[in-house]
Order: sequence, then structure tokens, then C-alpha cells
Amino acid sequence: MDRGQLCLEAAGLEDAMLRWAASNGLMYRSKTGIDDFIIAPFTKNPFPIPTSAFEISASLAPLWGKLVHGIAKDSAWLVSKLESTAEGDPFTGRLLLLYKQCLCEGIVQPLCLGIFRSDYMTHEVEGDARTCMQVELNTIASSFGGLATGVARMHQQFAAGTVGLLNAEHSIGALTDTPALHLPENHALDHLLEGLSSSHKAYSTLHPLREKGARLSIAMVVQKGERNFADQSTLEFGLASMGIPVMRVTMAEILQYGSRDLSTNRFYFSPPSPTPTPAASGSDTSGSRVNSVEFSVFYFRAGYTPCDYGNDEDGFVIPPFSNITSATTDTTQLTPPTPPSYASPIDAGMKLGKEWVARLEIERSRAIKCPPLSYHLAGTKKIQQVVAIPGVLERFLTSDESEQMRKVFAGLYTLDREEEGGAEVGTSINMAIANPQGYVLKPQREGGGNNLYKTEMVNALRTMNQKELASYILMERIQPPSHEATLIRGSLRTTEQCVCEFGVFSCYLDSVSSGTSGAGSATGTGEKDMELLRSASCRIGDVGSAKGTGYLVRVKMSRSDEGGVAAGYAFLSSAALHK
Ligand code: ADP
Ligand code: MG
Repeated sequence: MDRGQLCLEAAGLEDAMLRWAASNGLMYRSKTGIDDFIIAPFTKNPFPIPTSAFEISASLAPLWGKLVHGIAKDSAWLVSKLESTAEGDPFTGRLLLLYKQCLCEGIVQPLCLGIFRSDYMTHEVEGDARTCMQVELNTIASSFGGLATGVARMHQQFAAGTVGLLNAEHSIGALTDTPALHLPENHALDHLLEGLSSSHKAYSTLHPLREKGARLSIAMVVQKGERNFADQSTLEFGLASMGIPVMRVTMAEILQYGSRDLSTNRFYFSPPSPTPTPAASGSDTSGSRVNSVEFSVFYFRAGYTPCDYGNDEDGFVIPPFSNITSATTDTTQLTPPTPPSYASPIDAGMKLGKEWVARLEIERSRAIKCPPLSYHLAGTKKIQQVVAIPGVLERFLTSDESEQMRKVFAGLYTLDREEEGGAEVGTSINMAIANPQGYVLKPQREGGGNNLYKTEMVNALRTMNQKELASYILMERIQPPSHEATLIRGSLRTTEQCVCEFGVFSCYLDSVSSGTSGAGSATGTGEKDMELLRSASCRIGDVGSAKGTGYLVRVKMSRSDEGGVAAGYAFLSSAALHK
């Protein structure tokens, strides 16, 4: 098909939407070429979502941060809940190993930033009072804040008839079959910018620059050849317009061009420049860091899948850690947390894949991590299942908050016979085998395309050994109502029965060493730092919600099990709220 034909076929409203999307950066990188940009897939209309479901999920948003932060403070609990999962799943095992190592060494930076997205589906089954249930909580690389904000703005402008064909008949409001819809503003981008800029400000308040010539920057840790580049760029350039530099780095580049200063734990990075500079080693001979930056925040948009980490055989020897308390090396009075009772799990001189060493060095550094390992681990499917066990939420939240949160939990079942409720594992397996349409089997993976459904699920449940089973969770299948939607992917478009998944963003910035915490927790006296942050008007706690709800709507064909945009199953959309 040549471009002339494409232009004629795409004429009208859909063509205007494609032009709007291209002009406003709703872009994606094509699967074929690194410099080949395409328009992100989207739906022609906003997708109907009941107002009540949207409001419930928006009201829960600040609680996810509180829950994850509570879990992060209760490190002994977190470790104990993941031990057997880690045995059957090497990736979780490695994350847990690094986390335990950092607990032994002492947490250098107690401030943690979480950018969360809690994903939901509406549920419609006769005789079932539940109307909206959580699919999962994302605690690492929670993406699409930028693109989702753009798609909502596009839908709003077309619905208002202010762009496109200036003809009411062709506006989205006239095309949709559901009248009297409310299209809520989407503040996702503002949320995320607030979370990241607040963290950068907190870091610069607590740890003013010490090196001549160095600049503070946020590190956005990205995958090589990332397809969802425009979503990340809205953040990168949004922060730049606030005067905050952002440097995009891959996991491999972190140690290639940067290192942690062993006396201060500050992380310095000297990017390659056209004019040769001395090799970056964290310190240089002149005593100045003219070409280097100090990272204030590591914002992970990578590191959530085993594919982001190389082999140990091709890796590095782990550098030493020297926990010199900050009182002697820095301006602040951070006190290291009480070490846990177990011995340091990593031997000095052990070799790990270079990306794993980078993850460890980041975690050991003074920079604020988004997320720290504790938040990453608290976002595993295993922890989602554990907090659904009656009484567990109350460990971290008030009874009112726990009750609200539990209302959106689907049935979640352990497959670990050693765990609380383990005696029921056989019953759960039989229940799923008898009704394969009613359940989904989930490993500890992020990024879409990993779950097992129907025959594959039944086969796995029949054949996996106990250790493997313990690394999965079984989840009740949510049954969302379907609506007709027109799906647009470049010149391809199709109208199908579709369902949607919607996520609500939240940002949480807090210290794991201030306030009270449970037994075996990372404790310390961070109160002085918190006081400093308050006096500098730094935002702490639930950061960004004052901006309004930030959300993501993804639409997929009813017959598709999985739902990722990158994986090719889902289309970006926005919410059309109805009674
Ligand atoms: P990932 O971390 O890979 O995104 P998810 O738990 O979000 O894992 O599952 C991927 C997709 O599978 C979701 O986007 C959704 O479309 C579908 N899915 C997951 N859990 C359920 C469920 N309980 N009921 C219905 N669909 C589900
Ligand atoms: Mg998901």
C-alpha cells in the first residue's frame, strides 16, 4: 500500500486523531527499527467505566503507598514471606539476596520513592456484588503516565468538537452509544513529575553538592532500544522544564561510566563526551568533576525483568561496601538501621552479572531509589496474595483502611504447601482444574505475557513440582463487561467487543527510618532529616494526589487473555464515566 492510498483510507475523524496523536507525541518505536517511530495504538472513543468503580479506585490510591511503605519498614516480615518463592524463582531469589545484603550493610538512604499504579478491572457476574477488582499493583516502572495523559486530552478535545471535523455529528460524543458521559481529566503526568521533582528536591536539601563542578541529575534507568520512549520523554522533558536534568542510562552503562564514592556513597556518573576525558571511576585526579553528574534519584524504567540482567559469568566482582555513618562524611545525621540477625549473604569477591552489580551499587548508594528493592519486592504477585490473607493488612493499615482495600481483592490462593493456608493447596488446584476459565496462574514476573490461562494453566498445575508451584500464585479470573470499541493502530483499524483494565497512579515519598515500625524493622533516627525537609517545604508522604486523579485505561479484545500495550494486546484509551 503506498502513502497516497493510506491517506485516502484514513480520511475523516480517524485521520484527524492520528494527526493529533503525532503532533502531540503519542508515539512508540516500531518493532522493526530503532529510528522508526509509529503512533501508539489507541481507541477512537473513551471507554465506558462505572463512576463508582473509578471513584473507589481513586480513593484507594494513597493507601497503596502507605501499605508498601509499611511493608518496606517491616523488612524481616517481607523477607520471611518471600523465602520459599525465592527458592522456586531465581529472579525473585536474586532480588531478595541483594535486599538482604543491603539490610546487613545498613540502609544508606532511608528516603524511598514509590511511583505506583494499581490496576483494576470492573467485574460483572450475576449474583456477585463485587463490581471492581484489583489485577495487580505495579511498584516498578509503572508506565504510561505520559501517554495516558495525552490520550485523555485528545479524547476530550474531540468530544468537545473543538478539533477534528468541526461537525457535531463527527465528534466522539455523537459517535459513542452511551450518552451523558463524563470524561475525567487525567493528571497522571503531573503526579509523576511531582513525585520525581519532590525527591530531587529532598535529596538536594539533605545532601548539598560537595564536589566542584558536579551537577545533580535524576537517572532514568532505561532498556536499550526502549519502544515506549515517548512516554518516558514526557517525564524527561517535563522535569527539564522544571530545571531538573535527567540522564537516560541503561543498566549496563551505570557501571561503565559511573560509580559509588566509597567514602560518601554518593553516585557519580561521567558520560562519554566527544572530547576524551579521564576514565570515569567515581573520582578523578584533578579533584573536580567538571564533566560528571551526581545522581539524586534512580528512577527505574528497567530492571523489572530477568532480560534486563546479564549472566554472572560475564559479570563483575562485587565492590566492597564501607558503611561510614553519614555524620562523619556528610551533612546529615542518618543512623544505619539495626542489622538483621542473619549473616551477610553475599561474600566479598563473589562475581555477579554487571547489571546485578549495578543494581546492588545503586541500592548501596546515597541516591533515592524509585523503587528501592524493598518496594520492588513488595510489588511481587506473592506479596499481593499474602496481604489478601485475612488479618494481614491490619499489620500495616488501620482497620477501616484495610476493610476498604479488601473490597477490591479478587480471590488469591497460595500454591505453597509450607505457608499459612498451605493445607488448602490441593483444594485450590482442583478448583482451578475443574474450572479453567475461572482462574489465572501467575509467576513472579512483570511486563505482560507471562501468565498461564486455560489448558496451559491446567497442564502447569498438573506437572509442576512443589518448589515450582510455590513460586506461582493462583488468582480468580475477573470477568469484565464488554463494549464495542474501534481500535486504531496506524492504518489498521477494527471494531470489536472489548474489555478494559484501568490503573490509578500514586506517588509516595517517605523515610524507612523515621517513626515507629514493627519488630525486626529498618529503624533509625531520621527525624532530624525529616525536620530539615519540612523546613525546606519538601513534600513528603502521598506526593501529588492534590493534583487530581492520574489514571491509565487500556482496552483489549474480549477474546484476548493478556493485556500489555507493548506486548501488542492493548490499546491506550481514556475513561468515559457513567452511572
Ligand atoms: P503483568 O505484571 O505481567 O502486567 P498482570 O497481573 O497485570 O501481570 O497480568 C497481565 C494481564 O493479564 C493483565 O493486564 C490482564 O489483562 C490479565 N489478567 C491478569 N490477572 C487477571 C485476572 N485475575 N482476571 C482477568 N484478567 C487478568
Ligand atoms: Mg499488569
